[in-house]
Amino acid sequence: APAVFTGTDVYQRSFNPQEYLREFCRLSNSQGQPNTFLMQNLRALLKMFSLEGLRGDTLIDVGCGPTIYQLLSACERFQEIIALDYTDQNRRELEKWLKKEAGAFNWRPVVEYVCELEGDREKWAEKEEKLRKKVRQVLKCDVTKANPTEPVSLPPADCIVSTLCLEAACKDFATFRSALRNIGALVKPGGHLVMVTVLRETYYAFNNQVFSCLRLEKDVVEEAVEGAGFDVKFSEVQPCPPGNVCADCEAVLSLVARKHAPI
Ligand code: SAH
Repeated sequence: APAVFTGTDVYQRSFNPQEYLREFCRLSNSQGQPNTFLMQNLRALLKMFSLEGLRGDTLIDVGCGPTIYQLLSACERFQEIIALDYTDQNRRELEKWLKKEAGAFNWRPVVEYVCELEGDREKWAEKEEKLRKKVRQVLKCDVTKANPTEPVSLPPADCIVSTLCLEAACKDFATFRSALRNIGALVKPGGHLVMVTVLRETYYAFNNQVFSCLRLEKDVVEEAVEGAGFDVKFSEVQPCPPGNVCADCEAVLSLVARKHAPI
């Protein structure tokens, strides 16, 4: 595990989106081993975005990175999506796929997998087009800022989704709790938070770069979510499938919470 916290400056300097996608977002690795970590997360996202009430007009993806897998089931439930991330190269990589530019990552196998889970593998091209149309903006954000999209003020959304971001972005529990309050303010009262978080992970690595991770327990996450004004509606821990991720995570927490009216 790295001794030091890898902050936004490190992400901006060293996070290589193409290598990240190669490592974590292919359905199988170069040895042909299935990426069970990704598949498990895709199934969890489908389950969460199938829950009653998980629909509306607007969805904000916080810390989207260069990835779209977290939006594949979500885009069936929301009309407009805004994606946010700190680093320029990750937002750029996402734009490449949205605009079908040369060299964009091939998401087709992952999209096919989700379509199969949803009942019709043949709908992959339709889903890709749907998602491309629904992502309206890709903006810079910093979850440690009171207004993460400063100087832009976004109208509160019906839902926010955040996958594998806060544990990477926060150096300690106090920062984690305040980051949840910061991103929680992006949701309307009555709206939802959908999260996928690794538990008890201290680092992840790819492309010879190591990134720090805040070591979280389920209770700590749930308390922080509640402290940000949400009621936890769904919470499920699954063990990290062994073998195929370059990280020391022990489990993955999938969580849905609903924001209550301000007291
Ligand atoms: N959501 C994607 C990417 C996770 S990688 C996925 O599920 O694969 C972690 C992401 O957090 C990176 O894209 C990084 O740029 C972003 N990040 C790190 N610190 C951040 C901060 N302070 N504010 C917003 N995003 C941050």
